Amino acid sequence: MNLSQLANLRILDQPVYQPGKPIEQVAREHGFKPEEVCKLASNENPWGASPSALKAGKVALESVFLYPEGSGLDLREKLSQYHGLDSNQFILGNGSNEIIELLGHVFLKPDDEVLVGAHAFVVYKLVALLMGAKPIEVAMPNLTHDLKAMREAVSERTKLIFLPSPNNPTGTANTIAEINEFVASLPDHVIFCLDEAYAEYQEDPFCLVPFIRNGRKVIAMRTFSKIHGLAGLRIGYGYGSSEMISLLQRARQPFNANSIAQAAAIGALEDEDWVDLCRRRNRSGLQQVKSGCAKIGLDVVSSEANFLLVGVGDGKRVFEELQARGIITRPMPPSLNEFLRISIGTEEQNEKVLKVLASVMKERTAGL
Ligand SMILES: *Cc1c(COP(=O)(O)O)cnc(C)c1O
Repeated sequence: MNLSQLANLRILDQPVYQPGKPIEQVAREHGFKPEEVCKLASNENPWGASPSALKAGKVALESVFLYPEGSGLDLREKLSQYHGLDSNQFILGNGSNEIIELLGHVFLKPDDEVLVGAHAFVVYKLVALLMGAKPIEVAMPNLTHDLKAMREAVSERTKLIFLPSPNNPTGTANTIAEINEFVASLPDHVIFCLDEAYAEYQEDPFCLVPFIRNGRKVIAMRTFSKIHGLAGLRIGYGYGSSEMISLLQRARQPFNANSIAQAAAIGALEDEDWVDLCRRRNRSGLQQVKSGCAKIGLDVVSSEANFLLVGVGDGKRVFEELQARGIITRPMPPSLNEFLRISIGTEEQNEKVLKVLASVMKERTAGL
């Protein structure tokens, strides 16, 4: 008997999340210095974290021999001021991806259905499969979540519905009115999970708090990996009713959010100017890349996040050709294979990717 035969059967069929290659590896493989490589692959903040987040993280480093405060009370209190809820309505995660997993542990049983958009963030489906539940993928015409179709797909077995708005990788968002109507229409046996990973990039994001206050079965998730620029620290959170949060708290590891991340996240929340600045810079970066793509003759999907889905024809080939020239982007799964996802970078990085993309596309149309 080999080792794999001892594994539970589900794990052998479990698809594996494919992260992009790190800068150092691309540099090595293609003969660049790391600083020559431009990474626009993971929707990170190209301007980095706020100075106040970095300072708080450095101070916390001095006490790194101590275990973190297990429940993250200081950060939860900060979040409670920020969202106007009680501190026991927040749970921290090792990235908001962990909150998705905790939802799976707490709520999913074999044969439960999990509703997701066909081009939604892939982790929901991975967690559903890992728990033995059944992901039900709902078509996304115009690459946007179709909430009417999702409502129609709700069955007696539906347990969780995930809605990322804005969505990754499409960048599309649903309107406030649409989401309100959808959430209000859901039956009592269904839990609605709003993934707000990119909400800070929107001028006027949807707010789930009224539904939380009304005792609806809902949860929202946020992350410090995107606009706050702390992706390497792995910190995110969920917020909902105190009952929802206390259920999730039972499923987490004792010290899942590390002390440096907790401190840096507090520093990040204290610097609202930094968030505003990054939002404005991202908006002009989106404009820059959009109009640059138009000049090259490439269509883009309208995005409310910090990345753009660009129609390049053969996404995988163009991804490889860009990578060989020191630019890391994100190739898409087969269902979106004509696209490439490009994160918005600094003005200089955007200029560089547009210039290289123009020459790659020109060579391709010339049939070189
Ligand atoms: C990046 C991202 C997350 C958060 O990731 P963490 O780094 O684990 O916090 C969650 N949802 C979506 C849609 C994302 O793109």
